[in-house]
Amino acid sequence: MKFKNSVITGGAGFVGSNLVDRLVSIGHKVIVLDNFVSGKKSNLSHHSEKNVKIIKIDISDKNLDKYFKKADYIFHLAALAEIIPSFKDPNKYFKNNVIGTLNVLKAAKKVKIKKLIYAASSSCYGAPKKFPTSEKDKIDLKHPYAETKFIGEELVMRYASIFKMPNISFRFFNVYGPRLNVSGQYSAVIGNFLTQTKNRKPLTVVGDGKQTRDFIHVDDLINAFIQVIKSKSVNKIYNLGSGKRTSINTIAKIFGGKKKFIPIRPGEPKNSVANIKKVKKEINWKPKISIEQGIKNLLSS
Ligand code: UDP
Repeated sequence: MKFKNSVITGGAGFVGSNLVDRLVSIGHKVIVLDNFVSGKKSNLSHHSEKNVKIIKIDISDKNLDKYFKKADYIFHLAALAEIIPSFKDPNKYFKNNVIGTLNVLKAAKKVKIKKLIYAASSSCYGAPKKFPTSEKDKIDLKHPYAETKFIGEELVMRYASIFKMPNISFRFFNVYGPRLNVSGQYSAVIGNFLTQTKNRKPLTVVGDGKQTRDFIHVDDLINAFIQVIKSKSVNKIYNLGSGKRTSINTIAKIFGGKKKFIPIRPGEPKNSVANIKKVKKEINWKPKISIEQGIKNLLSS
């Protein structure tokens, strides 16, 4: 079989680099476009140039035509991803996440791709009232990060319907797994707990720890990417989570060790869990890795 060409924006990041690994393993040639603000060279250092071409580029102020010429699949994952910093610098978020997405779409429209996949965010539901939350539930944008990722999604869907592009938007819930950012003020809870466990420090539990999230392992997330490129599905939005809710106290219990309670983060939702009926049915996918297993794997790696 002839190899396929894929372009991944943000391919040096946590999800992106896991996706590069998988695509290479199934015979794709990959071009990574990354500005290396949060992406890391070391996430891709095990690949040869023959399979993975790495381009340092800021997608928000460059013409991308030449990178997309041979593309069969485009995975648009590049974005600024932190909530609190997005309040401080909304312009930067708008440029990266909205203009960046527009640039990707403009270049992708000129070539005959098989599928374009956009990484959207479950933050578009704000503090949801219905659980599990489905794709049809209310959009409630509470910060510039959510706003810019949602405008990106609107653009992706608009291009799909106006220009008949084969676009898909996945609304990510809380993704975790190998290469999750573990050392930042705003890093995700599982990343923080991992570092704290390794350094024999207490686990920083926000508030009373009874809040819940939907944690999806990156391998399951990437299985969905592979299923969707094999499917006929286009012009669709899908939630991508495990469909299960887990409290932060439960996460702390799986890690084991002492807890330290720290002040609540104003404005964050108490609960979040995805309704994943649509994605399960339409692309023949289901999550397989339990949170217990996923954390165990991380602790032993
Ligand atoms: N959280 C926590 N301890 C940490 C980091 C986060 O208890 O060290 C909590 C956070 O307040 C939230 C949940 O874990 O309720 C998930 O936070 P994260 O930043 O991972 O993702 P979010 O769902 O907020 O985007």
